[in-house]
Amino acid sequence: MTNRIPLIAGNWKMNLDHLQAIALVQKLSWTLNDADHDFGEVEVAVFPPFTALRSTQTLIDAEKFEIKLGAQDISQHASGAYTGEISGQMLSKLNVEYVLVGHSERRTYHAENDSVVQQKVAAAWANNLVPIICVGETLEELESQGQSAVPIIQTINALSGHKELGKFVIAYEPVWAIGTGKVATAQEASDVATAIRQALQANFGDNAANSRILYGGSVKANNVAGFLQSEQVDGVLVGGASLDAEEFSGISRFKKHIVL
Ligand code: PEP
Repeated sequence: MTNRIPLIAGNWKMNLDHLQAIALVQKLSWTLNDADHDFGEVEVAVFPPFTALRSTQTLIDAEKFEIKLGAQDISQHASGAYTGEISGQMLSKLNVEYVLVGHSERRTYHAENDSVVQQKVAAAWANNLVPIICVGETLEELESQGQSAVPIIQTINALSGHKELGKFVIAYEPVWAIGTGKVATAQEASDVATAIRQALQANFGDNAANSRILYGGSVKANNVAGFLQSEQVDGVLVGGASLDAEEFSGISRFKKHIVL
C-alpha cells in the first residue's frame, strides 16, 4: 500500500471557450457528486485553456467544488517582454495548483527541450505551483532505445540543477499513445513507472521517489482500471476523454472497476 493519493488530471488542450468550460466543470462536478465521489480519496483536476482559467476558478470557488485547477503551460520567465507568454505569478493568482510542463505537444510543436522544461519547473516552484512533468518516448525512440530510457533521461534533466526540489508529479506519456487510440499495456506502464521511481530514488532520494507517477495516452473509462491496478501508477493524465463529463467521471471513479 502506498500513501500516495491518486490524481486524475484532464488536459483539455486547445478546446472549449470559457462558457463551454464552465458548463463542463459544472456537469463534471454534479456527476461526481451524484456518484458520491470522495475527492479526498481520488483527486480530480482539470486543465482548461488559459482563456477559461478565470471563469473556471470563479465557478469552483463560488460553488465550493472540490475539483482542482491546473494550467497547460507556464512561461520560464518571471515577467517582461515575452509576448503571448503566461507567468507563474499570473497562474498562482488564479488559484491554479498544477501546471503541465513539457507535454509532448509542447516539445514537438514549440521546440521545448529538456533545458526549457527544467526552467519551467523552476518557474512553477517559484510560484508555489506543482509541475506535472510530462515525459515519454516516440515510436522511433521506443524501437531504438526501449521504453524507459527516454522517460528516465527527461525526468532527470527536468529535476537536475535546482537548489532544492519542490513538489512534483511525473506523467509518463508514450508519445505514440497520445491521441492515437493506441495504449501502452498496464504492465508496460507499471514497468516504466517503476524504472522512473528507481531513477528518482537513485538521483534525488526518498522524498522524490515518493512523488506521484501518472500514466497518460488514450486513457478511457474502460481501460483505466488496468493501469491503476499497479502500485507504481498513481493516477492518469487524460486528453480527449476528459472533454466528456460522463467519461471523465467514469475514469475518476476507476476504483469501482478494480477487482482485487
Ligand atoms: C494528453 O494530452 O496528455 C493525452 C494523454 O491525450 P489523450 O488522452 O487524448 O491520448
